[in-house]
Amino acid sequence: MVRVGLTYNENHHKHDPLLNGYPGPENPSRLDLIFSYLSDNRFLDDGRCFLFRSEPATLEDILRVHTKEYIDRVTASIHQSRKSFGQDTYLCESSFEVLLRAAGAVLHAGDVVASGACDHSFALVRPPGHHAGASNPGGFCVFNNSAILVHFLRDVCGIKRVAILNIDAHASDGTYGIFSADPEVLCISVHQDPSAFYPHTGFIKDIGVRPALGLSINMEMPPRSGNKEYAILFEDVIDKVMRKFDPEIVILECGFDAYYKEPLSQLDLTIDGYYDIIGSLASQWKVVCLLEGGYHEDIGLLTAVVLEGLMGRRTIKDGIDQIDLLASRNVNTRTEFQEKLSRLKLILGPYWELDNPLLCSVR
Ligand SMILES: [Zn+2]
Repeated sequence: MVRVGLTYNENHHKHDPLLNGYPGPENPSRLDLIFSYLSDNRFLDDGRCFLFRSEPATLEDILRVHTKEYIDRVTASIHQSRKSFGQDTYLCESSFEVLLRAAGAVLHAGDVVASGACDHSFALVRPPGHHAGASNPGGFCVFNNSAILVHFLRDVCGIKRVAILNIDAHASDGTYGIFSADPEVLCISVHQDPSAFYPHTGFIKDIGVRPALGLSINMEMPPRSGNKEYAILFEDVIDKVMRKFDPEIVILECGFDAYYKEPLSQLDLTIDGYYDIIGSLASQWKVVCLLEGGYHEDIGLLTAVVLEGLMGRRTIKDGIDQIDLLASRNVNTRTEFQEKLSRLKLILGPYWELDNPLLCSVR
């Protein structure tokens, strides 16, 4: 029986833009929606999902990634002008405790998998983390949860080879900045083309720096890319790279804003797409999922889809007619995607022995 662990930061309500007097998409209703869906659909008494309480992370855990100066800036901002910490990043009076609880839940999710207590896990935490760098906030992110987990797995659990895969609609720029020169971490981000989209970084040409060239992979998905484009990308590149790297644990930066209903982005993954990505990962690797973005009404449903993917047991059906979805999109999407995929294979070929797309087209 596959055992899946769940953790969350139960004090997340104290991090809420309304406490600063204005509304915003990254707010407590996100986790509330998720937990009400899971409890209404009996995921929490299913016998295969185990909900764990966790302790807050310590300052030592955070300092493995973030600088002391940056942490001091976070705490000082909380006491001074909370509303202006970053462009989209807000802080409330109790945000520091919320952030430590979020990181603690992430570490616990990693620990139950590293110890073998669970096969996979999902840390349902907010705010998200993948835009935060070692000394800067980004998007709605303050601390980079996946980076904090990588360092914990290495230093405390003795896990050496970790892969991070971002499927949030936005490039995982914070994580890339932290690991682009780290030869022990494979860092893959699949996101909407950032040419005209936040964070405006994360291009195919960004493959890390020495001594980790080729260990960072960024794929720009053209707007309206959906299940089929993701499936081709995984089959042609990501699965091959992952099998060569052979990670002991995969950290999935699991954003739900690549979903077709997401108002903040223009990608078209549906339930089938999410299930196939997670199901395939979980059938090959130990997976620790971390909640990143996703600001639409179906994030509870998608969390359940991810849990079913981790368990390898599918009950939730996809109600979307793919033909209708394809008909509504730009006819150039597939062509643009194929061009970008060819460029990705060309640039990564020397590092991962991928098929050379130029040779293929000659055949
Ligand atoms: Zn996002």
